[in-house]
Amino acid sequence: MNENAMDINQFDLEHLWHPYTSMTDPLPANIVESASGVKLRLADGRELIDGMSSWWAAIHGYRHPRLDNAARSQLDKMSHVMFGGITHAPAVELGKLLVEITPEPLEKVFFCDSGSVAVEVAMKMALQYCYSAGQPHRKRFLTVRSGYHGDTLHAMSVCDPVTGMHTLFKGALPENYFVEAPACRFGDTLDPACIDSFAEALISHDDIAAVIIEPVVQGAGGMRFYSPEYLKEVRRLCDEHSVLLILDEIATGFGRTGKMFACEHAGISPDIMCLGKALTGGYLSLAATLTTSRTAEMISKDGLPFMHGPTFMANPLACAIAAESISLLLESPWQERVSRIEALLREGLAPCRDLPGVSDVRVLGAIGVVEMQEPVDVAALQAQFVENGVWLRPFGKLVYTMPPYIIEPGDLAKITGTMVRVLGENAHA
Ligand code: PMP
Repeated sequence: MNENAMDINQFDLEHLWHPYTSMTDPLPANIVESASGVKLRLADGRELIDGMSSWWAAIHGYRHPRLDNAARSQLDKMSHVMFGGITHAPAVELGKLLVEITPEPLEKVFFCDSGSVAVEVAMKMALQYCYSAGQPHRKRFLTVRSGYHGDTLHAMSVCDPVTGMHTLFKGALPENYFVEAPACRFGDTLDPACIDSFAEALISHDDIAAVIIEPVVQGAGGMRFYSPEYLKEVRRLCDEHSVLLILDEIATGFGRTGKMFACEHAGISPDIMCLGKALTGGYLSLAATLTTSRTAEMISKDGLPFMHGPTFMANPLACAIAAESISLLLESPWQERVSRIEALLREGLAPCRDLPGVSDVRVLGAIGVVEMQEPVDVAALQAQFVENGVWLRPFGKLVYTMPPYIIEPGDLAKITGTMVRVLGENAHA
């Protein structure tokens, strides 16, 4: 390791917090100097094939010439300007694209900074909707276990109570309603009993402002894929009880599950939808909360403003890149790419089923998951993947991959082959 790299490591260890790590006992961090295509280049010159898309975001890979150019040309105009009393072409262009590609009734767009904030905005929209509708007592949210919606306090309050460590924050978190996680898997026909607890919760509580759920794929709360029929029932029951439905498409949006938005698997649309992550192709933090005209009109009944307005709202640089990323996606054969990845993941990960310690292998779209019976040693496993030239970041019992859509079969085979080999070696160690 050269001196500069040693200095980076040292300072990082002593001063920089990483996601979900301890300052006194941090997990090791690898220094990435650059990235392009599907490769991350480490400070020591090694190259890693990226199996994570930087947490669902980098769908086109790194340093895509069109996204780099979009950033450069926007920089020559302005990188930021406030959105209060000002508008600009990048926001309008992105807004048009989002209204066009999301399910039809969604046509009002609120730009914000990150996925968690998009969820906060969605929850606030629901609260203001209820207030304007003369039902201000509706202040709580209904969701399912094993969900994940972000790390800010309100978003956390609808994350799975166990993995979201609700006991740690008890008293500081709003208390919301949870029912069991959808038990019927993707591809199975819905057993009507699966939805009973959800239906009962809607009947027994009259203070629910909205239901919030990740459509079809529950991501960071367990990488579970559930039946679109369940989601269809959720929509039907929300309508029956006049409760708003918020869909968190932050991880699933922009093609990851094989549909542009995961709710399309169920043929339904939400009242409020949260987008983030792949919105900018992984270049900058930007998110959006979309809603219908009907919802927006109720929120602003009697001219009431919607009470949110972040400093970096609709950041032009991020909007310009996001608009280019969506155009790039629409012009690419993304569906074929995602279904090719799906087929290769199924084939490549199948041998994991026979490994000791593996409890399940599942694939949907460009997402491949190996669930172990016990939590894995993240640092040890990650080091072995890196030694094999692959970038993966397991958590809990889950070893999984969601590569950039541009990945070639050879690189993908290296990811799946490494997963099989490393998990096999660990099982026999
Ligand atoms: N919702 C879902 C479904 C997510 O996967 C995430 C991020 N993992 C978030 C919300 C929060 O997004 P962010 O990390 O950008 O705040």
